[in-house]
This record gives sequence, structure tokens and C-alpha cells, in this order.
Amino acid sequence: MIVNMLDNATEQQIEHIIQRIREAGFQPHVTRGTERTIVAAVGSGGRRHEIEALSVAPGVDSVVAIAQPFKLVSRQTRPDPSAVDVAGVKIGGAEVVVIAGPCSVESREQILETAQGVKQAGAMMLRGGAYKPRTSPYDFQGLGVEALKLLRETSNLTGLPVVTEVMSTEDVDLICEYADMLQVGARNMQNFALLRRLARVNKPILLKRGPSATVKEWLLAAEYLLAGGNSQVVLCERGIKTFETATRNTIDLAGVALAKELSHLPVIADPSHGTGKPSLIGAVSRAAIAAGADGLIIEVHPCPERALSDGSQSLDIHQFRGVMQSLTMPLRPVLSDKTPS
Ligand code: PEP
Ligand code: MN
Repeated sequence: MIVNMLDNATEQQIEHIIQRIREAGFQPHVTRGTERTIVAAVGSGGRRHEIEALSVAPGVDSVVAIAQPFKLVSRQTRPDPSAVDVAGVKIGGAEVVVIAGPCSVESREQILETAQGVKQAGAMMLRGGAYKPRTSPYDFQGLGVEALKLLRETSNLTGLPVVTEVMSTEDVDLICEYADMLQVGARNMQNFALLRRLARVNKPILLKRGPSATVKEWLLAAEYLLAGGNSQVVLCERGIKTFETATRNTIDLAGVALAKELSHLPVIADPSHGTGKPSLIGAVSRAAIAAGADGLIIEVHPCPERALSDGSQSLDIHQFRGVMQSLTMPLRPVLSDKTPS
């Protein structure tokens, strides 16, 4: 349930509501918006009627049920969009943030050349896998801690904050030492032990949508992070499984718009895994931004044909520059008799 405070509610009145929510057996979560303060009562096993009765407490405007199962992630709890700060780069603000880099970190030269190239083209963050979730156990699994060190070194040299995937609870502390943001990969979206652990770290999380997860399941996975104490969450649409085989996955841009509508969290799109095709990345990136995405994450490799993972969907640095340039082009004009001639 949420308690909407009046615009002129005093700190004391807000504090009283927080206290009453605790007494009723729920956890209070306060959101101070541009206009008013909202106090959400979340959790199970509390006494609902005691929260309902707060509608007559001083400073309260209304008490309403949260319609969605994801409570803290919902726009009802926080009507204003939230922004996530990744070592100085704001995701969810007025500008679209582009994260770029290789699928896997392969060597010092490879990661540095990529980072410098993508930075020059306009990327604001670096990506690179150290621990790779590969479908086959015989495929390249990532350089592990060596890759983490290379990512940190490259980040320090270029000033680009770095995001890398965490696959296991065992690796969380180690990765936190080196990365600015931790990615939960699509295959781990419902790894609840991992989500619970990441709820307790003081690092932003990039939560990818599972290939067969609904938008509701994706937002509920994010709810684990917020409910456990980590509200620095960015959602990432990376394509879902459908009957289509011409693209690697089917990128769900309506899902991006829907996630933005239902949730205050920033949402970015991954056109690389979402299509599997370098030729489609520019078009899908532009479409994602038009659908409301707050950012993009794109795989770039200095020599895709030599990449140890996902080379066939990676852009080279020249192609990436072209995609970046295309992002500033306006959409086509709409034929209309209102268009000035
Ligand atoms: C990746 O980012 O390289 C990756 C493996 O992504 P996903 O979890 O979306 O497949
Ligand atoms: Mn990849």
C-alpha cells in the first residue's frame, strides 16, 4: 500500500507515518518527489487495516493499494523517473548513454584499443566480459580476474566507467573491487540468490531481461534488488526467444516502452544480442531511443573476425562510429497538411 502525503505535510507527520507502518508490520520506503512525498508500506504479514486507517492521520492525502506485484519498482511508488549514477555517468537523465565494448576482454591491447575507439566515437561507458555465460562448456569462458584488472586499468586510463557481468554469488566481492557497475546476464535474471546478494552491494546493477521472461517477471526480478536495499538498478532489454530465427533474439521495443510506463527505473536496450546482426544495430538503436530507451549497450571489437565470443554480432570501431553518428539524425518527417512548406 502507499500513503500519499499532502503537499504541505511536515517532516514530523511523515516520520509518524513511517513509524506507524513499522508498527503495523511492514517496511516503510519513502520517496520524496518533486511535488509530494509518498511512503510505501511493503512486505508480507503486516496488518493491512492499520495502514488503511492512516488515511485520516494528519498530513495524509490518501492511502491506496499498489496495483502491481512489483511495489518499489512501480511508478505508483515513485512517479518521477529515477536516474542511476555510474561513477559520474547518469543513466536515466535527459541524454541517452551509450555503453560499448567487446563481449569478452581478451587482452590489454584489445580492451584499450576498443575503449579509446568507442570513447572517441562518443560512448560514455565501457563494457567487457570477464566471466562469460556460454551455452557450451567448450567455448571461451572469459579471463576472469585478469580481465577485471584489465578493465580497471583501461577505465582509469580512459575515464570510462566499466560494467561487467557477475554470474555467481562467489564472485560478487571480487568484481565489486574492480567494476563500476555489475551486470546480471539474461540467463541469471531469476537467480534469486544472486539478486539477494546484489541487493546488499553499493554498486549499480544492470539487470538484463531473461530470454523467456515476461516484462512482469523482469520487473519482479528488479524488485528483489530494491526490496533488499539496492535501488541503483538499470533495466536492459536484450531480446527474447520467439519463433523467428532470422535474428538471434527478437528485441522487444514495446517491452522497453512498457517497462518505462510501469516503472520509474531507467531502461536501456542491447541491439547486439537483440538482433545478432551488425547491419541492424543502427536501425534498432534509433528505434529503441524513439521508444524511450535511456541508453544502449553495443558490442564493439577492433577486429570482430578474431573475437573469442560474439564476433559475428560485433561492430568494428569504424562501424560503431557510423552508428553513433546516425543516432543524432532526426526521424523522417511525417507527411501532413500541417507541415510548413
Ligand atoms: C553479454 O552481454 O555478452 C551477454 C552474455 O548478454 P546476455 O546475458 O544478454 O546474453
Ligand atoms: Mn556477448
